[in-house]
Amino acid sequence: MELSFKGRKALVRVDFNVPLDSDFNITDDTRIQAALPTIRKILDDGGSAILMSHLGRPQKKRKDDGSIDVEKFTLKHLVPHLSNLLETEVFFSPETTGTQASEMAGKLQPGQVLLLENTRFQAEEASGDDAFAEALAALADCYVNDAFGTAHRAHASTTTVAKYFKPEDRSFGFLMDKEIKNANKVLHDPERPLVAIIGGAKVSDKILLLERLIEFVDKLVVGGGMAYTFMKAQGGSIGNSLCEDDRLQLAGELLKKANQRGVELLLPQDSVVADNFAADANTKVCPSNDIPDGWMGLDIGPEAVKSFSEIIETAKTILWNGPMGVFEMDAFANGTREAAKAVASSTRSGAFSLIGGGDSVAAINQLNLADQVSYVSTGGGAMLEFLEGKELPGIQAIKG
Ligand code: AMP
Repeated sequence: MELSFKGRKALVRVDFNVPLDSDFNITDDTRIQAALPTIRKILDDGGSAILMSHLGRPQKKRKDDGSIDVEKFTLKHLVPHLSNLLETEVFFSPETTGTQASEMAGKLQPGQVLLLENTRFQAEEASGDDAFAEALAALADCYVNDAFGTAHRAHASTTTVAKYFKPEDRSFGFLMDKEIKNANKVLHDPERPLVAIIGGAKVSDKILLLERLIEFVDKLVVGGGMAYTFMKAQGGSIGNSLCEDDRLQLAGELLKKANQRGVELLLPQDSVVADNFAADANTKVCPSNDIPDGWMGLDIGPEAVKSFSEIIETAKTILWNGPMGVFEMDAFANGTREAAKAVASSTRSGAFSLIGGGDSVAAINQLNLADQVSYVSTGGGAMLEFLEGKELPGIQAIKG
């Protein structure tokens, strides 16, 4: 971050979209922790911080009478914890923009922090409205975007607002910088071999990612539910496993393309199959291309664990997105656990490993291995789109 904040008010877009329990206690403050270095830098420089974020989807989850459920989605719930973490009183504006927000922002002194109400209480946030963005911008002297998790949304507070600041008065925060740098390291400057591990439920969610990865990875390991569409495309019997029949042709084309480009595309040779999608189902191991009717593949099998791990161990750069099986159920978590262990081990041997997008992050946290990989992205959908090669509006807006 090159801006100096001395004597200035910084409008900071953070991602404080944290999970809350039914008493509105924060159950996981990772996202708040991730924004602290940027906020501290502003305060330490002698500036003040006006924080804005969304929390949940208040527009989609309105009350029966059609009104916004303020009690449920107010950012006020975060004030005590944030004050504790920053060791300073955090002021709260019950308005996002408006007279009260302007007055509170106007009075803010160096070293002080103001949190604005949930940006998504305004329908103008998601539509990227100019007037709303201009009103936000009027609260401050400079703008910092540190909300990587929403950088793929062209919303007022993540994108439109930036144009109301001169290029020299807008910047990425530390978190955003780190996310971009780490993703670029994999995309543009990887030490080889570069191994991508892609899993999760559906091929259709990851088509763009798979197509792009085939262009530049050395090895592509495909596990999880999506592997069975590939298996079937190769003529295998997959029983009742997850399959997207409308993607069979595409899966076949991806296999062909990988082959043409000399990319080794690995599918799980064997699977842990179950007679029911349930934690207590009967299970057995069988070849992934010979799954009996009535059975479904819910995890990669022991042979696949072995070959996937061997490939992962040879990598110098690793990108992982998506679990190898239904890791939420213990009976089908082994493949994901072993893949995570292999990534951790490879990292110890000097590989750079990026865990990005969706459930692989949840898996690595659940396994307590987050500190044994190089970087765990905070941005699920945003990281996925970045890796797909899309220009994220929140990033573009800062660059201008
Ligand atoms: P994604 O959000 O695409 O990364 O998908 C994650 C979800 O895929 C998790 O909830 C997993 O339970 C699910 N999943 C992984 N493997 C399988 C499988 N073999 N069959 C069904 N669902 C799976």
